[in-house]
Amino acid sequence: MTRKTNYHMSAEEFRRFGKEVIDWIADYYEWVESKPVVPDVQPGGIRTMLPVDPPLTGEPFSEMLDDVDRVIMPGITHWQSPNFFAYFPSNTSFPSILGEIMAAGMGVQGMVWKTSPAATELETHVLDWMASLLGLPDKFLSNSEGGGVIQDTASSAVLCAMLAAREKATSGVSNRQGVSGSLVAYTSDQAHSSVQKAARIAGIGDANIRLVETDDGFAMRVDRLAELMAEDREKGLTPFFVSATVGTTSSMAIDPIPEIAKLCDGIWLHVDAAMAGTAAVCEDYRWINAGLDGAQSYCFNPHKWMFTNFDCNCFYVSDRHALIDALSILPEYLKTREHGSGAAIDYRDWQIPLGRRFRSLKLWFVLRHYGAEGLAHHVREHIRLAETFETWVREHPDFNLVVPRKLNTVCFAHSQGNSFTEQLLESVNQTGKLFASHTKLGEAFTIRMVVGARDTELRHVQNAWNLFVNKAGEQSRRTSK
Ligand code: PLP
Repeated sequence: MTRKTNYHMSAEEFRRFGKEVIDWIADYYEWVESKPVVPDVQPGGIRTMLPVDPPLTGEPFSEMLDDVDRVIMPGITHWQSPNFFAYFPSNTSFPSILGEIMAAGMGVQGMVWKTSPAATELETHVLDWMASLLGLPDKFLSNSEGGGVIQDTASSAVLCAMLAAREKATSGVSNRQGVSGSLVAYTSDQAHSSVQKAARIAGIGDANIRLVETDDGFAMRVDRLAELMAEDREKGLTPFFVSATVGTTSSMAIDPIPEIAKLCDGIWLHVDAAMAGTAAVCEDYRWINAGLDGAQSYCFNPHKWMFTNFDCNCFYVSDRHALIDALSILPEYLKTREHGSGAAIDYRDWQIPLGRRFRSLKLWFVLRHYGAEGLAHHVREHIRLAETFETWVREHPDFNLVVPRKLNTVCFAHSQGNSFTEQLLESVNQTGKLFASHTKLGEAFTIRMVVGARDTELRHVQNAWNLFVNKAGEQSRRTSK
């Protein structure tokens, strides 16, 4: 028997199956609307359809494609459905998908400038474009002391910010000798859990992060921040880091950044605008950037609301040296002639891992395909749809807004209270006709409707509202019997 010497897929097969895959994706966007948004499967159900043992010999690709339909699709939650209103959008678009495919095709690993100069330089350029599109302060541009970098997620961004702040506050001592217990970080009790996680990873610890109380609108209370900082200083502790949020996960609350920045003299202020940041592409929503002049770092996720597939976080710092000092270790095998010249950026020094994906390609495609005008159009449309939904809630006697709508997020509840609202959400989601998620705001069990999927139109939002109203009516009739 002659042995095969090459097990690769041929270019010819790749062309054929590649075209099938592209068709499959285009078809997906055509039929996804008609499917239940959340799959009806039990934990472990998908694995029972997979063979116990890995294949010994290669299988035909056509069988893999069949199995995607047979095994995988029944277990997919359809984030790209126009009826997906849960958590936050993680929308994507065809230009982004094409960029992702091309980046995978090049298989580039752009850890330092030399390992792919175009990957590095495109990233720098696209991040400058983005700063200009969103109206961010000039200090975040690459021709300043600061600059931007693409991280995988907002969670990594806040961790990098905290590490840079830690090193700056201790003049590098933490990196050399470990962290002392005197550094204190602050964020609000509505901030994303990634800030607390960053404090654990950075060695700050749960005991040294203060979750500042919020006001009636769930934004950070500046008076409490000032008091907590003063108390900590009195105890001999050192406030070193504040993470403020533009658009909290639960309710889209916007912390008062200008006032917070005033308290942050010598303290690193990070601003997390994970979802809301995209809104600044519309000049009329640029007010969300108020106070960024006083921030040392800022991030938002194009992978949430800017039609760019996961993962893609734009992270900006005003002092790149602080970041690099915190994260750079230069072993011999990574030394390049360009490294020390100052002319080339080695983005490995701006992030936690060494390796890095060529994410700027998809972002470049998105920005060039939509242009500022196209992005602003869709963002405005999502906000308009959320506003329409808000009006229906406001005008209905049985529903109430838990907080006034901000941007694309409506937080509402049924007037019959928490358990009624919880049951209502459950029964609406069980229909599969939409997917919305919940939070607790104060004591109120709250349904969150977040409008941001690529193809969501008025009819989807209207159907969603009708479903909530009808199901609430049925539930009321049942409970009053
Ligand atoms: N920050 C905020 C305000 C968020 O809403 C989220 C996600 O829900 C995150 C951070 C975390 O995002 P990522 O998954 O990019 O880490």
